Amino acid sequence: MNIDYLIIGQGLAGSLLAWELIQRGCKVIVIDNGRENASQVAAGLINPITGMRFVKSADVDTLLPTAKHRYSQLADFFQQAFYVEKPMLRLFRNESELKNAGKRLSNPEYQAYLGDTQPPGETINPLATPFGFLEQKQTGYLLTRPLLSCLKAFFIANDSYRQADFDYRNIQLEPSLRWQDIFPKQIIFCEGYKATQNPWFCDLPFQLVKGEILTLEHQSELPDKILNYGNWLIPLNAHQIRIGATFDRENPDTQATEQGKNDLLTALSQVSVDLTHTTLVNHQANIRPCTHDRQPFIGWHPQYKHLAIFNGFGAKGSLQVPWYSEHFVDALLNGTPLPKTCNIQRHYETHFTG
Ligand SMILES: Cc1cc2nc3c(=O)[nH]c(=O)nc-3n(C[C@H](O)[C@H](O)[C@H](O)COP(=O)(O)OP(=O)(O)OC[C@H]3O[C@@H](n4cnc5c(N)ncnc54)[C@H](O)[C@@H]3O)c2cc1C
Repeated sequence: MNIDYLIIGQGLAGSLLAWELIQRGCKVIVIDNGRENASQVAAGLINPITGMRFVKSADVDTLLPTAKHRYSQLADFFQQAFYVEKPMLRLFRNESELKNAGKRLSNPEYQAYLGDTQPPGETINPLATPFGFLEQKQTGYLLTRPLLSCLKAFFIANDSYRQADFDYRNIQLEPSLRWQDIFPKQIIFCEGYKATQNPWFCDLPFQLVKGEILTLEHQSELPDKILNYGNWLIPLNAHQIRIGATFDRENPDTQATEQGKNDLLTALSQVSVDLTHTTLVNHQANIRPCTHDRQPFIGWHPQYKHLAIFNGFGAKGSLQVPWYSEHFVDALLNGTPLPKTCNIQRHYETHFTG
């Protein structure tokens, strides 16, 4: 069977890339092994202003409108909402956070994303806010699991999906590209952290970061807002929350640990005493495909031009994948140059020796 693109991986990256290619008339097949992936575990948060210094995420002014547009297009198509826009309360952990936020507020470039700061003394029951807080705007989260399952059903209905463990040894590169009965023009690897085992792209400077997340039941009256207190809390409904996520660079595995759970629960107990009594519903772990320079890895192998990668979305897949999939498809179909910052050409000399 002749096709245009064989995509390996049905996480958020492979799914949105395949969706975009199909929308533009390409014949695509997506291969996935069907196991739980980072995208399904992820909280899907989009938070334009992060860190202790309240820094605006790179390119958020460009990336966010495309992400919202794509998720609303998918919601129209599947008749189901996937992106939940919800303000975020940032609870300051010390005086310098309050000060830093104050500085950003006077910067016009930040005004679309920040509400007023509330000084110490202002309270929201039942939260502890000894250093005050701030409401952030244009925050929300993507319901990744239902989105990926709708897209999987769409690919299956479109004859564009196969469940399989893709074995690199079964690719024929010459005289024409082939895998099983499929002859694609190109293969695009969207394997998340598993790219570190890919024989053609494994030397790219990935920096894998494990994360753990808890789903909990509680009996407190919480505001219907995302909370950020160093970690985050997402209210799923009146009595269920997700909290996360840990950052562990030392143990790149998918095991949920007691240590991870305890760290998350300890941080939560400092937000409100009411939240010290919760019931654990789910505890998940997976691996973020982060990169050394915090930019995605997109583009073609320097030697095998029919092998490409679309990966490296780190902790920001929900924000980044829609914009980069649109622009990678422009590059694939029209030869439009990829932005230099994401193009793996930046690593040709240093990471593709031999
Ligand atoms: C705990 C945690 C919390 C996170 N929170 C957020 C968040 O709040 N906001 C946010 O934007 N991002 C978050 N992320 C990051 C987000 O998950 C990633 O940016 C994004 O999901 C990466 O998507 P991906 O498609 O590249 O990888 P994945 O989702 O891992 O998908 C890769 C797919 O490829 C398949 N695959 C790989 N190799 C093969 C093979 N040989 N054969 C067949 N199939 C194969 C895998 O099974 C998998 O389905 C979080 C991640 C974690 C782990």
